[in-house]
Amino acid sequence: MSASPNICKPTLAIVIPSFNEEEVLPSSNASLTGLLCKMITDNEISEDSYLLYVDDGSRDRTWELIRGYAAESRHVRGLRLAANVGHQNALIAGLSEASADTDAIVTIDADLQDDIEAIPKMVKDFRNGSEIVYGVRENRDSDTRFKRITAQSFYKLMHHLGVKSVYNHADFRLMSTAAVRDFLLYDERNIFIRGIIPGLGRTQSEVRYSRKPRTAGKTKYPLKKMLNFAVDGITSFSVRPVRMVFFLGMAFLLVALGIFIYVIIRHFTGHTNAGWTSLILSIWFCTGVLLISLGIIGEYVGKIYTEVKHRPRYAVRDSINHSNKHNDTPPLRSEYETTRKH
Ligand code: UDP
Ligand code: MG
Repeated sequence: MSASPNICKPTLAIVIPSFNEEEVLPSSNASLTGLLCKMITDNEISEDSYLLYVDDGSRDRTWELIRGYAAESRHVRGLRLAANVGHQNALIAGLSEASADTDAIVTIDADLQDDIEAIPKMVKDFRNGSEIVYGVRENRDSDTRFKRITAQSFYKLMHHLGVKSVYNHADFRLMSTAAVRDFLLYDERNIFIRGIIPGLGRTQSEVRYSRKPRTAGKTKYPLKKMLNFAVDGITSFSVRPVRMVFFLGMAFLLVALGIFIYVIIRHFTGHTNAGWTSLILSIWFCTGVLLISLGIIGEYVGKIYTEVKHRPRYAVRDSINHSNKHNDTPPLRSEYETTRKH
């Protein structure tokens, strides 16, 4: 895209990662195309704006549906990843693809739990000079109690660990394409997008909305994926847990020193410590702590392992209606995405 983006009438892409979303896509696509057309007729965005569905290796009819939508409208594009690489990587694939011919990009989940009416507001903010506009949830009424509590404790923990993240904001946001390009330079594999964006140093604003329950289909974030996501979020940003292991070790040394002094004093005052219960207990306790510490270190070693391998994040299997400009633009990351297309 040109160096100076069109702020007055930007070309907008809405990137929608979709994994096994056949149940919810028909209604989502109707709402999103309706919104896009309205914004185009209202002259808020340019004629060339489009929706970009990223099929994250779905095993259901998601890709067929996307193909159908793309055949019906030139404002719909599709990108099919060869395998399921997860929400974050699917988002990156979409951002990377859409950064070739847009001024701004919105990312939104396929189930449209996030209010699409916030999108025109985001574009308005963009036209007023914001380069990143966060969609921030007003409430979490639509979440289960469990999800609410875990999500909120997670934000708080991240905050204490020194990770900049916007409270109650997930991956529903608008970014200027320039900001997206900055973001795409972050070449790490263990990526937690929403922790990186606030640090890009671009002008930012927030749009508030209330999040709705999923209308169809099941969540693609079961507990296991949520836990992985949280662990990735913490360990890919903060080395504080490693430091905590160090301080924990120091504290244990101090305790051991105290016990040593106590035992010596008891010995010279004629008392001997008889029971071995305390001994056994401390062995178990210390072993536990050691194992936890090793676990934390292992987490980082694992991260180093995946970073060093430097594998491509995703491979594209197919794409439809994608712009010709894309081919003129040098890929921002590895050549892999383009060379693997077939
Ligand atoms: N998703 C994806 N790949 C995955 C898991 C999820 O692209 O491996 C997409 C999914 O299709 C949806 C978004 O990520 O568009 C968020 O998933 P979901 O709505 O299931 O999460 P929740 O709202 O329950 O946290
Ligand atoms: Mg959802």
